[in-house]
Amino acid sequence: MAHDEVADGRPVLFRNATVLTMDDTHSVLTGGDVLVVGDRIAEVGHGLIAPDGALEVDAAGGIVMPGMVDTHRHMWQTAMRGYGADWTLTQYFVWYYLEHGRRFRPEDVHTGNLLSAWDALEAGVTTTVDWSHGLQSVEHAEAAVDALQAVPGRFVLGYGNIQAGPWEWTADPDVRSFLERRRGDLYGWQLAFDVTGDPAFPERPAFEVARELDLPVTTHAGVWGATNDDGIRLMHENGFMDERTVYVHAATLAADSYHRIAATGGTVSVSTESEQSAGQGYPPTWQLRRHGIPVALSMDTSVWWSGDLFSAMRTTLGADRSREHLEAHAAGDTVTNVHLRAEQVVDWATRGGARALGRDEIGRIVPGAKADVVLLRNDASPVSFPVLNPYGHVAFQAQRGDVHTVLVDGRVVKHEGRLVGCDLDALRRRAEATVEHLVSEMGEQAWQDGMNPALPDDDGKVLDNPYQYTDFRTDTTLARGTVFGEPGAGDQG
Ligand SMILES: [Zn+2]
Repeated sequence: MAHDEVADGRPVLFRNATVLTMDDTHSVLTGGDVLVVGDRIAEVGHGLIAPDGALEVDAAGGIVMPGMVDTHRHMWQTAMRGYGADWTLTQYFVWYYLEHGRRFRPEDVHTGNLLSAWDALEAGVTTTVDWSHGLQSVEHAEAAVDALQAVPGRFVLGYGNIQAGPWEWTADPDVRSFLERRRGDLYGWQLAFDVTGDPAFPERPAFEVARELDLPVTTHAGVWGATNDDGIRLMHENGFMDERTVYVHAATLAADSYHRIAATGGTVSVSTESEQSAGQGYPPTWQLRRHGIPVALSMDTSVWWSGDLFSAMRTTLGADRSREHLEAHAAGDTVTNVHLRAEQVVDWATRGGARALGRDEIGRIVPGAKADVVLLRNDASPVSFPVLNPYGHVAFQAQRGDVHTVLVDGRVVKHEGRLVGCDLDALRRRAEATVEHLVSEMGEQAWQDGMNPALPDDDGKVLDNPYQYTDFRTDTTLARGTVFGEPGAGDQG
């Protein structure tokens, strides 16, 4: 498609879609149209008239939904996409906090953010919170914001720095002046830091700076081995929990902490893929639902996982239902109707995120809302039909390759399956330069070791099998990679 066809300023009319409005009653239109004029949704209905010069997008067979909102992503880490696939949280702490993370230059943060920002848009995530805790200096922070400004999505910068205590970096006059100077450059801002549970509550001054600057706080809470109920209690007792606070994970917490969160109105950002794999605790939606705590979704980091919220919706449904079944089985019961529905996770991926950020103008397809719109349509895929249960289709069937068109603020940023205005070759070169820098700083061996953590000592041990009565496969210490049963493979006696 020629670039001028999607030039800024043209009205856009989506024709004949299944429209998930995510309005207050979750209205769904069949054969519906959505008209975007300027930065706003102008009309939602049937048989709308196209204004002069409008770009008409045939959405027949497709699903139009609000742009998705990721409330917690360490975007800088996307420069090392997939590197930590086999990490636990412990390895992440060692490698990212002490090894690779320290070695990121401002240009490497810039690269990670650029890559992650386009990654988000490509997957229909129109608003992303950059939980930016790699800001070792104000130069790093400038680079992070410059990158986000260069990409036509909505970004909220959660300013953080894991290399110093939050009471230290929030007291730095250069950080303060940076936050004031660049305030207007992004969609929003937060302060991003964790609360250790130290009874002296050293984080107090950081909360006071947030209050002074009128910035919400986002914090990793209820992370096994790192943050716990003491942190929540200290925040609450000192009056620093409010409806703008975003608690990331909130997985390893007691009922008392959930009560404190529910009573003060904050949101939990659930990163199910992360919690399942890294070990923060069991993905907590099954608890949050019972406590009436608002939920938003997030991907955490692409050093392990994908950056698309289809995965978040899918794994969140799976984890919640899995827990519900397991709890019932432990009591000798059977779940015959699950509580968590596909419709609910689509809400969490859109409105839930908007609510977490205190923004009513995004996350819905209603007249007057900001025009952040996603069309799922993929005529080349047998998975694209039939669309019978549209929420179920979004949560369990769709994936980023089905994202046909994306609008942010009325601007077309992806069309006919391709990003608009993204120089992928330049991005690739930048990513290569960052990887080259990190490898040369660390040395090839350390780089490889970081990517391939040691297996536990009991690796490969196969349980004794009482039904195994031949001597075939008796050697349970076969090296990994041996093809079992193949003549000549391993020592088969
Ligand atoms: Zn995180």
